[in-house]
Amino acid sequence: MTAAEVSPPPEAALRTVAALVDSGVCEGTPELMADLMSDLRPLPRSITGDGVRATLRRIAREVPLALHEVPSGTRVLDWTVPAEWNLRDAYVADATGRRVVDVRASALHLVSYSVPVRATMSLEQLRPHLHTLPEHPDWVPYRTTYYAPDWGFCLTQRTLDALEREDAGPYEVVVDTTLEPGSLTFGELVLPGTSSEEVLVSTHVCHPEMANDNLTGIAVATALASLLAGIEHHHTYRFVFVPGTIGSLTWLAAREDALASIRHGLVLTGLGGPGPLVWKRTLPGDRPVDVAGAHVVGRRGGEVRGYSPWGYDERQYNSPGFGLPVGRLTRTPHGEYPEYHTSADDLALVTPPALVEALTAVLEVLDVLESDRTLVNLSPQGEPQLGRRGLYPTVGGRSADEWVMAMLWCLALGDGRHTVLDAAERAGLPFATVRRAAEALAERRLLSLPG
Ligand code: ZN
Repeated sequence: MTAAEVSPPPEAALRTVAALVDSGVCEGTPELMADLMSDLRPLPRSITGDGVRATLRRIAREVPLALHEVPSGTRVLDWTVPAEWNLRDAYVADATGRRVVDVRASALHLVSYSVPVRATMSLEQLRPHLHTLPEHPDWVPYRTTYYAPDWGFCLTQRTLDALEREDAGPYEVVVDTTLEPGSLTFGELVLPGTSSEEVLVSTHVCHPEMANDNLTGIAVATALASLLAGIEHHHTYRFVFVPGTIGSLTWLAAREDALASIRHGLVLTGLGGPGPLVWKRTLPGDRPVDVAGAHVVGRRGGEVRGYSPWGYDERQYNSPGFGLPVGRLTRTPHGEYPEYHTSADDLALVTPPALVEALTAVLEVLDVLESDRTLVNLSPQGEPQLGRRGLYPTVGGRSADEWVMAMLWCLALGDGRHTVLDAAERAGLPFATVRRAAEALAERRLLSLPG
């Protein structure tokens, strides 16, 4: 009997997180993520407005996401929901009427949240409002001015050099935006489990165009929600798709009464770009989601980092007034790869295998949260005879050795104080392998697996 035959997945068990991990990411899921990212890329996202609404509506075609609107001016914790911003058009045209910078080519050309402007000015007058990346002369930077009324354009250094050479001014400057009372939009999806204990999954939805930051977080969170919607799970999963910072603050303020049920949380972003996976710990650093995250990311050759009050929305969730144990999964984090917050963070930076590995890693973290159990050896005096019970593989090899070691570690640590994850860590094996071994031992009544 081989290891695989020892514990065949029963039909009913195919509808669990564990079964998803054991069977690998489902057919169709990589396509779902790719289609979603290419559909979402052109939408003019910001922290409020129709771009973020259209983004959430597109996600809602995959999963039953509810859109919530919070009016401008609403006090949210120490902040206020800003005026709603929408972009109609924006450009700089030279004296011949040619658009030398044009948001129709890329939304990144306008500083997000720019106030309306209609003016004619010289290049010298315009110059303080132009942003470039001299060290990457073909890239357009991404800039925002959410909380200071200002305006500006982002362009390549090469375009600016040409403008300075030709100086075909005066230039017509048009920023046709609206900043009016409206609302901030966030998306939320709750997938009830058999328990009311919740796992929070949060991703931001406010960046225009850029792929790794932030279409990959949206894609992985949506694919995950779609998978979890079709299976049974212990935890209740709460997905939030929020504009960065102000969106998570608004959501926290709106859901203050519901937060007590949250046991674990993950912020997902930057999952398809370069580098290995990186787990950023919660503020306490030792919560169950940290142990699970560190195990999964460590086994995949990734990096585990301590908490820092800088980054994405984990800053809001971990703040002392909420203290939600929310870690973060990325690849190379924000600011540490050259394409970050530039036009070079495009779909070519994102690879399908990187995205699939990230989704698989998230499922593995959830598998630990869903399936970790205490080990109690029911035959603790000496080793039980595994061969007699059909538990020894008859075919040798590395996986057979791993299977035996997984069983022996479950029995060795079966003192009622250790868990399956402890055995996986001590054995240096993936959690899922040890989980299957523990289940096989439990089926033969050699182990009990209380909660
Ligand atoms: Zn960003």
